[in-house]
Amino acid sequence: MYEIPWFLSGERKTFEGIASPELGILWKYFSNIRYFYIFYRNVFLLQNFEAMFLWNEKAIQIVAGPCSVESEEQLFATARGLKKIGIQTLRGGIWKPRSRAHHFEGVGEPGLRWLQQVQQELSMQVATEVATPRQAEVALKYGIDILWIGARTTVSPFMIQEIAEVLRGGDTPVMLKNPVCPDLELWTGAVERLLDIDLKQLSLIHRGFSVLDDAPYRNIPCLEMALEMKKRFPGLPLFCDPSHICGKRGLLYGICAEALRLDMDGLFIESHCCPEVALSDAAQQLTPEALGKMFENLGIRQVENNKLHLGCEILIQRKG
Ligand code: PEP
Ligand code: MN
Repeated sequence: MYEIPWFLSGERKTFEGIASPELGILWKYFSNIRYFYIFYRNVFLLQNFEAMFLWNEKAIQIVAGPCSVESEEQLFATARGLKKIGIQTLRGGIWKPRSRAHHFEGVGEPGLRWLQQVQQELSMQVATEVATPRQAEVALKYGIDILWIGARTTVSPFMIQEIAEVLRGGDTPVMLKNPVCPDLELWTGAVERLLDIDLKQLSLIHRGFSVLDDAPYRNIPCLEMALEMKKRFPGLPLFCDPSHICGKRGLLYGICAEALRLDMDGLFIESHCCPEVALSDAAQQLTPEALGKMFENLGIRQVENNKLHLGCEILIQRKG
């Protein structure tokens, strides 16, 4: 079983029986390398000193962006809007694994050029989905910062292995979604295959499971199962993808709140400059402004970008 020491894992330990909040704050910052880094930035470099004393502060990471990259204009409008609300890592699918044929299947390679432009012009990190070894090769060639592997790919050990061979020895962070079916062993096997190739950073994404009766969700969440993965792989950050769990905007807030309550490490969420005309997953996307509002209501606000971790790290502060 893959394990790294807890103090390197990003796991937040509480110190039972701590006598005073002051001691508690010190314990928080010195018991975990990630928080120690925040302490160093904030205190020794005198940045954001005030934020240090918010007792309930937690760091989470956010990756947001459109379901599909549709055009240069749509991508830039969305990316600019997201940057305004503090998002540093943009997601966007260019090869779309659609269940049904004859639906929009993504713009393909030109989309990678637009993602590159976003990297260069807006200084954002970009993430895209790869579902075959060939797609992984092409995405690496274009210098995409983060690759994610979707639920339809995680179900196939052969495909995961072939993608892993392309990524072997590289330093591009990978985010692995759960398989479409609620099969913990299948998800675990995919993680093991990716850990075997010495990836620099692997994260997990819970996007819900497809079951016969998943109403009112599109894919029923099983956050407990996701947390079981966290137990199996304590070093791997665990993200929640409320968009593909919910399938509709109205349910997003509740799932995000639950993910935060369960202390998940990040949100992987869809946002589109004009959701009503989106070519895929229109009903579940929020405008960047609406996303910013939802973050505010969740008590999330950005305090700084954390460059300690490779890839998709953004430090957000959550009060309460
Ligand atoms: C996506 O993130 O756009 C996507 C296709 O997700 P999933 O693999 O969860 O269906
Ligand atoms: Mn989608």
